[in-house]
Amino acid sequence: MNAVPRQRRVPVPLRPTAIINRLIKEAPLTPWRATNDPVTELVLTLLSQNTSDTNSGRAFQQLLKRYPDWDAVLEAPVEELEETIRPGGLARTKAPRMQALLAMLRERLGPEWDASRLVDMPIDEAKRWLTELPGVGPKTAACVLLFSLGRPALPVDTHVHRVAQRLGLIGSRVSAVSAHDLLEAQMPPQRYYAFHVALIRHGRRVCHKQRPRCHTCVLRDRCPSGS
Ligand code: SF4
Repeated sequence: MNAVPRQRRVPVPLRPTAIINRLIKEAPLTPWRATNDPVTELVLTLLSQNTSDTNSGRAFQQLLKRYPDWDAVLEAPVEELEETIRPGGLARTKAPRMQALLAMLRERLGPEWDASRLVDMPIDEAKRWLTELPGVGPKTAACVLLFSLGRPALPVDTHVHRVAQRLGLIGSRVSAVSAHDLLEAQMPPQRYYAFHVALIRHGRRVCHKQRPRCHTCVLRDRCPSGS
């Protein structure tokens, strides 16, 4: 008689804090400090869209080399800006977007580009303030708040979204936009940074979009999607 293969019982999902603990035990996080420069963070995030970190880094270096300040970027001929940031890809789209973003920022922040109001604003108001800027969605707003100001916001990129779904923290139909609030509510704000970084790293190294490497995953015993 042929043996019937046993079905894997669906495990109870881990909570975010336990997930972070397992992932950082495997590979510790690098220390990090807020940059206090939201305008730079916004420009960097725009440059990083649909390209690798290496390419967007190159484009940003070119930008710094060519222009002394944000006023100069804003006032540059768009074709020149496009040529400057070409290593970052999609330069024809990103150059006018960058100028539209900087125009609104200068209008709101004044000639000193003083973004200190974002430090004291209630967090929901700060998110609204940022998402009203052209091309800024919840993920970019959260990146700016977390990385440049050390404020409690959890950015959900494609890796965080996918891994959180597979781990059963959010439903499979929950969009990345909705996931921001749902995930934030599941852990203390002090863990947002660790969760964001640990899940991105896990998504890149182990829980790939195609063919996740479940056999090497430290979360497998409690992952409802593990194979
Ligand atoms: S067990 Fe597989 S699906 Fe679950 S988190 Fe690990 S790699 Fe991803």
